[in-house]
Amino acid sequence: MRRGFKTEAKRLALELRAEIGLGAHSPFNPYAFADEYGIPVIQLSNLHGPARDHFLQADGSALSGALVPIGTGVAILENDAQPPTRRRTTMCHELAHVVLEHEFGVSLSADERRCGLGGDQEDEADWLSGEMLIPSDGAFRLARANATDQQAAEFFDVSLAVARWRMNHSGARKVVERARRKRATL
Ligand SMILES: [Zn+2]
Repeated sequence: MRRGFKTEAKRLALELRAEIGLGAHSPFNPYAFADEYGIPVIQLSNLHGPARDHFLQADGSALSGALVPIGTGVAILENDAQPPTRRRTTMCHELAHVVLEHEFGVSLSADERRCGLGGDQEDEADWLSGEMLIPSDGAFRLARANATDQQAAEFFDVSLAVARWRMNHSGARKVVERARRKRATL
């Protein structure tokens, strides 16, 4: 990942949230955001034919989401057979690629936090989508309140895996624990 990207993503995610009237302490709404940006979202269940049956598998082994070029713009195709928290992560991942203006043909996402793009673009989209779902400021507030991963997941309406990732890798818990240890030795 490019130097300074994490700091940039932290700020950018707060700006993106503000565009749909959200602060750092509420669940992100990727559908409202896509709407605001004029990005059509197509649900797989609305497509027809054998392609649909192939893609529509609840375990997501075939597809979670995809960016599909439409004219000069882009649409997001999402697998609506998956659980809502999983869909929200996929949506944020694809939206992050759009916001960061990544080059893409068709980006297919099978893993919850990855698609087929690979490299720096993939790492950047992954990190930014994490900041969109649980901003660092939100993670810090939860860490100070001793929130568990489960509580963080419920508060931000994300999967347990995403909550655990953000609470541990945003640095929130580490910083709060360090501050507490320092106070304890005074
Ligand atoms: Zn991707």
